[in-house]
Amino acid sequence: LQVLCWFRRDLRMDDHAALYHALKSGGRVHCVFVFDTTLLSSLPKQDRRVDFIWRSVRALQYALQCAGGDLMVLHGDPTTLIPTLAERCGAQAVYCNRDYEPAATQRDQLVAAALTKMGCRFQSCKDQVIFERDEVLTQAGQPFTVFTPYKNAWLKKLTTFHVKPYPVQSYLGALATGQSAMPTMAELGFMVTDLDALQIQAGSEGASALFADFLTRIEHYHVARDFPGVKGVSYLSVHLRFGTISIRQLARAAWDVTQPVAGPGHVAWLNELIWRDFYQQILWHHPQVVNHAFKAAYDRLPFPNDAGLFKAWCDGQTGYPIVDAAMRQLNHSGYMHNRLRMITASFLVKDLHIDWRWGERYFAEKLIDFDLAANNGGWQWAASTGCDAQPYFRIFNPVTQSEKFDPKGVFIRRYVPELASCPDRFIHAPWTMTKDVSQRIGLMLGRDYPEPIVDHAKARVFALQLFSKE
Ligand code: FAD
Repeated sequence: LQVLCWFRRDLRMDDHAALYHALKSGGRVHCVFVFDTTLLSSLPKQDRRVDFIWRSVRALQYALQCAGGDLMVLHGDPTTLIPTLAERCGAQAVYCNRDYEPAATQRDQLVAAALTKMGCRFQSCKDQVIFERDEVLTQAGQPFTVFTPYKNAWLKKLTTFHVKPYPVQSYLGALATGQSAMPTMAELGFMVTDLDALQIQAGSEGASALFADFLTRIEHYHVARDFPGVKGVSYLSVHLRFGTISIRQLARAAWDVTQPVAGPGHVAWLNELIWRDFYQQILWHHPQVVNHAFKAAYDRLPFPNDAGLFKAWCDGQTGYPIVDAAMRQLNHSGYMHNRLRMITASFLVKDLHIDWRWGERYFAEKLIDFDLAANNGGWQWAASTGCDAQPYFRIFNPVTQSEKFDPKGVFIRRYVPELASCPDRFIHAPWTMTKDVSQRIGLMLGRDYPEPIVDHAKARVFALQLFSKE
């Protein structure tokens, strides 16, 4: 008996649902990863995500080979390559972990149909989330659209079983041996990026190192997570995106049956992981959110969409230091702190009056951790168009947000060096600086740093009018 295990956004060997089930099936397990040309063809030739995936695949191949197995690494269209490979290996089943994105679901349907024709089974497993699809429903049997009751139902359902690791290590003897080669980045048509300079370590080793570091700080997470100037968050999002770490392992850190009363840091951590599940199930049940507002009426909002304002936002040149620092962090590193994602998204929609989909697209291009469900959910939340979104009349003030979450301007100064010498009391709104201060520190607005491109108070009134029409 031969079976295939098809790796996708689950680039690790440990605690891996599909690999576990394949290994337990009684067959010889052939592992495969496909660099999907239908996805890669639209990407720029220097793309950090491709580089991250490539490095993680290489690490996975090495780990599997060390365990007596192998990973075949193919390049092409998986809807033809996987059935062809299954036929060549004489596989009776193909195992993989479920992906809830509409395009991935479609791809899997095509593969499953081709396999079925050949008499080969397509077996998908839950791995990426703790609870999926219809596992957490309202009492009326409907999917939740509001987070807090979803979270309560999620927590009520959680047992040790749901966070238990899959003991892959005990069954590795069933791996089919091999010494497959790894295509180079150049062979895939891509260039190596600056991941090393950014100190982003791919693969399970990179994820484990980040997680170990985070565990030394998790107790303070509930407080520290809101301040972009301090190391308060886990930075694990890219690893969660590509599955180089197991979600069960992360959830176990917060939820221990022997200690049901966890500290506030642990509770806050689990809460964020539940947000991740929440948006995955929203995308699964409401795939139309990919192009449309969750609240259909908000699809017709007449945003003026000024291209010049959009460019200033993208470039971090709006004259609002916290917004500019955040956008420059994104452009420089492919990452942005959660508090800043909320501030910049709100600013684009409510201050610059640009359709949230423009911002969503820009984030999708730049974020190394880009995840369709979380990005769409986050944007629709900030734009007030989503399920359980920020009400449209609650508009972030970029100056007070900045004062609250970067009080001394530590983060701003890191990414907006023009303002390095700006005194703390003016760093959040440099246009309030008096002439003599400006002369003393040699900082002239309009020359060294932009004047604010919009007046927040006026922009707020305009946004209220825009949204209240619906
Ligand atoms: P931590 O604070 O350490 O959180 C741990 C993990 O919890 C994250 O890695 C993530 O998987 C999950 N998580 C945390 N917050 C959220 C949330 N609000 N929604 C869903 N999952 C969450 N997250 C992405 O992974 N990819 C995206 O493309 C993405 N786009 C976003 C766009 C906007 C406008 C907003 C407001 C949020 C977005 N988020 C996205 C959610 C969140 O900002 C990031 O997950 C987080 O900043 C990643 O950093 P971290 O791993 O250090 O976070």
